[in-house]
Amino acid sequence: MSIEQQYQARAKELLSGGAVKMVIGYGKGTTGNRRRPIFISSPDDVGRLVLDDSCIINLSGYLVSEGLLSDEKRVAVFLRPEGIRAINILAAESQLDADQIVIFGFDVNDNELRALKGIHVEEFADVIGSIRENNPGFADKELLEKIEKMTAQERFAFWQEEFAKCIKCYACRQACPMCYCRRCIVDSNQPQWVNTSSHSLGNFEWNIVRAFHLSGRCVECGNCDRACPVNIPLRLINHKMAVEVLGAFDHVAGMSKTQEPVLASFKKDDSETFIL
Ligand code: SF4
Ligand code: SF4
Repeated sequence: MSIEQQYQARAKELLSGGAVKMVIGYGKGTTGNRRRPIFISSPDDVGRLVLDDSCIINLSGYLVSEGLLSDEKRVAVFLRPEGIRAINILAAESQLDADQIVIFGFDVNDNELRALKGIHVEEFADVIGSIRENNPGFADKELLEKIEKMTAQERFAFWQEEFAKCIKCYACRQACPMCYCRRCIVDSNQPQWVNTSSHSLGNFEWNIVRAFHLSGRCVECGNCDRACPVNIPLRLINHKMAVEVLGAFDHVAGMSKTQEPVLASFKKDDSETFIL
């Protein structure tokens, strides 16, 4: 039995017995190797679930859809390790109760699909713990090296040029599981904090504000830069912030559901004078 068939069978069993009310997984997309999120609530529909190496979207953000978990029933979701880390962050930030989430874990290495053992987020501690050893990892080494060789002024110019392309569609925000605010600061117009039209100052402000909000929280799933219609390398800026956070605070995002958010916690013996 393939991993896909095993998970279809598990989904059928959980839905038939009422152990979960919904399975969030992947279905066929509009082209051969595209996958899209599907939401299965009937055991008769589990055959629509697809699992292969094209399943790359981090589906964890759908769990915080308004009202989905408010009846305290369980929901199952297909997740790669970065999605499992996202569950930890959402739980640590009180956005969901991790006990309501049944994880169908999987990973793809060298085009090989493998199932991850476990159901609850705690059971994946070893898998996501090993990410810490290699973390933060970033696939586009060439781009990373190019950025690292730049002076501060060159880097500033690089990002200015990249952000100038932004059309303020907010697809990056909508695709990100960590951007769960019902009302984002950029949608506020009384007062208006960030200009909503696409021009260089507002674009820079928006992208920097977003990068700051993701510092110590981004799980590097890539949902944002895959969603960006103008191909701004958003994961690169988030990766650089993750490197800074690791160096400054020894923190890798999403290691456990009780991990304190790095920019929302402090130590009384912090050497900075602002802690009195
Ligand atoms: S910022 Fe991008 S890479 Fe990071 S968690 Fe959000 S969508 Fe994923
Ligand atoms: S997805 Fe890209 S173009 Fe759209 S708001 Fe985000 S950075 Fe700008």
